[in-house]
Amino acid sequence: MSLEDWFDRERDRILEQWKVLLSFPSVSTDPAHRQDCLDCAGWLADHLEKLGFRSRLLETSRLPVVFGELEGPPGAPVVLLYGHYDVQPVDPLVEWTHPPFSPVVEDGRMLARGAADNKGQHFYFLKAIEALLEEDNLRVGVKVLIEGEEECGSVGMTGSLESWKDFLGADVFVVTDTNTVSSGAPTLVMGLRGLVHLTVELAGARHDLHSGNHGGVAPNPAEAMAQLLATLRAPDGSVAAEGFYDGLEEPTEKEKALSKLAPFDESAYAERTGVPPVAGERGFPPDERVGFRPSLDVNGILSGYAGAGVKTIIPARATAKLTARLVPGQDPARCLDSLIAHLRKNAPDELGLRITEQGLGGEGFRLDPDSEAAAAAREVLDGLGDKNSVMLWDGATIPVISALAALLGIEPVLAGFGSDEDRAQAPNESFPIKRFRAGYLYVGRLLQSLGEHGDPDGSVTSPTPA
Ligand SMILES: [Zn+2]
Repeated sequence: MSLEDWFDRERDRILEQWKVLLSFPSVSTDPAHRQDCLDCAGWLADHLEKLGFRSRLLETSRLPVVFGELEGPPGAPVVLLYGHYDVQPVDPLVEWTHPPFSPVVEDGRMLARGAADNKGQHFYFLKAIEALLEEDNLRVGVKVLIEGEEECGSVGMTGSLESWKDFLGADVFVVTDTNTVSSGAPTLVMGLRGLVHLTVELAGARHDLHSGNHGGVAPNPAEAMAQLLATLRAPDGSVAAEGFYDGLEEPTEKEKALSKLAPFDESAYAERTGVPPVAGERGFPPDERVGFRPSLDVNGILSGYAGAGVKTIIPARATAKLTARLVPGQDPARCLDSLIAHLRKNAPDELGLRITEQGLGGEGFRLDPDSEAAAAAREVLDGLGDKNSVMLWDGATIPVISALAALLGIEPVLAGFGSDEDRAQAPNESFPIKRFRAGYLYVGRLLQSLGEHGDPDGSVTSPTPA
């Protein structure tokens, strides 16, 4: 039976199982949901056992990682699949048309928190394995690693990786936690950006002051914060912090040319988001600014009173949260230091500046467009539908991927079937059954192709000339 026929026959059962997975409120960032996360991990480990895996929960300092292993024929390549069972918080809850953890299928889409990111996108790879097993068509070894803290920094997993080195070894490393380009063409992600984050506070008077008695006299932290943040941006749109760009590796001409296979559609962007793509560094087109350049964003500012009516105060303090996306060559620790040094240098003396929180979320990386794994994935992606695959240098960050790739000593194959319209971080997240099926076919065919081309020493040869 073909993979397509198997899916169509099993469709209702698959959707019911997927709904169970989606009903766990596994919001990793909120300690109140710890037990829900543990329950979700337990359910997945059980599910893997039912499929024929040997599975267990790998304990970390935080939430456990679900690990499953399925032995292949002797000498067959081993494929490691990465996903995550945790989800983003659901606020604002009032904007959901259905309760976020009571999944429903509506207009061909599964609607629930996690439907796309990442429960849908790892559940289809489990179903692809199930189909191949039932049809006695799996010729590779498979390891599955589904973590519980991707949405809040992968702290536990990153801390434990080194101690798992002995049993995580694989020949091919597959990640389906990514999106296609907006045209829907199957998309091989060839790079991800790194991340640093910090929270900065400016403190003024001991308490909020009456603006009638103190206006024009007392320094205002809200106003000073606005000015301080503005100094981070040079007139040409670049980040003004000294040393921020140190070490940055420019893309090759080949990478730039390949990235044009998925051209950035400025008017479609404006249509979709409601804003034109005009921020950031001048002199670089939007696709290069997202794929090959670092960026700096103010994620939020908090100060004083912004409620109904009037409150005549000079606020006592102002807080801002910042994140920077980094590209290969930039050292995250040095970038963070350069931002903090800039803030200290430019903050007004009369207000106290404190960095109340800071952290590193991984380095940026770019993959080799000529690698065998990339060629194998592209061949499968090209055969999926009427659109040829494209290569995308994505601006997003999956912190643990570069750490895992370094540990395994192999480049990841990053292709997933998410899309902006899935609203992965917003209310009413959903994932179309059609794209779930496409993801299932991609993983199924990729595993078949790797099984056919594996050679006896366990390494993988390319099915197409690179
Ligand atoms: Zn994700």
